[in-house]
Amino acid sequence: MDFLTLFAVYVLLVLSCIVLVCKYSGQQQTPFSILLNFTIKVFSPFTPKWLQTLSQRSLHRLFHQRSNTFIYLHILLEGAVYAEFTYEVFGFCREMDTTLTSLSVPYILLIIKTFFFYLCVRKDPGTVTKRKVSVQVLMYPYDRRLFHPGVSCPTCQLFKPARSKHCRVCNRCVQRFDHHCVWVNNCIGAQNTRYFLLYLFSLCAMAGDIAVLTADMLLHAVLRSGLLRASYIDERGERQAAGALFVIQHLFLTFPRIVFMLGFLLFVFFLLAGYSLFHSYLAVVNQTSNEWYKSRGYVCQHCHPRSTAGAAAGAVDHLCSPAAPDHSRRYFYSRGLLKNLGEVFSPPVPVRKKHK
Ligand SMILES: [Zn+2]
Ligand SMILES: [Zn+2]
Repeated sequence: MDFLTLFAVYVLLVLSCIVLVCKYSGQQQTPFSILLNFTIKVFSPFTPKWLQTLSQRSLHRLFHQRSNTFIYLHILLEGAVYAEFTYEVFGFCREMDTTLTSLSVPYILLIIKTFFFYLCVRKDPGTVTKRKVSVQVLMYPYDRRLFHPGVSCPTCQLFKPARSKHCRVCNRCVQRFDHHCVWVNNCIGAQNTRYFLLYLFSLCAMAGDIAVLTADMLLHAVLRSGLLRASYIDERGERQAAGALFVIQHLFLTFPRIVFMLGFLLFVFFLLAGYSLFHSYLAVVNQTSNEWYKSRGYVCQHCHPRSTAGAAAGAVDHLCSPAAPDHSRRYFYSRGLLKNLGEVFSPPVPVRKKHK
């Protein structure tokens, strides 16, 4: 296999991963889970029973129970990127006169990110407890669409406050539940959404900054080598100018680890940038991922222009019948930009009033 094919496969793989993760993020059925279920079905007749049980238990422990595995993986990947950056890129950048201030930014961002990461891991997301539930149920009104009054959690045996959800991984109900994040091994809820957002922003900035410094270093390496003006003799004996592909091949062969690190960083950056934008949008409209996911397919069948009922009703000036769901309630908890952001960054704390 020649270099060009290998390079095309690498770029295709990275782009496919970005597209797949963006398309299926937040969905129950992902290509990964479908492929996994299919593989298990195909191989189960040939696999010993004990191995099946072991793999099922491991997968269950990984995705359905609280586990630090992804935290260790997170630290390992981060350590590998920083080791490579410090070992190879840093020295090269110093040689080409990049200022120490610019080169220290990734380390400052690492400290900031670690601080918010720690808070995401350690901070209670807003667990609904027996002691606080009487106050927690008063924090948000019930929209009577996704959340209804008088409903109890069958596991916790407590009334469910509006916007709360039972996390099956942590086995608890969480106030203003967003999602369970395996990377921080904690739920994201009322009390730690702000840390999660700041963690996402700092992680995104960190990946972006190291990617820019690394790309700058590679660009200088190419300019310094004079490859852009170079030429070579092809198999027919004719002189050919070294083009962009020649330069990329040279970079792959000279700095293989740095080029792969740059590919990984770009993948992480675009993924995180999209995810950060999505969570920023949710903060602005005062919605959680859980509410967004449940409201996503929420369209009144009578008003939907493509539905047969909609066509029959003349869709455009049709008014929802009382029996049809009211889709204006999609952003039920939105109270205006500033109040919505205030709710995320300075969430109300449930405090039980003392009776005198
Ligand atoms: Zn519960
Ligand atoms: Zn959880």
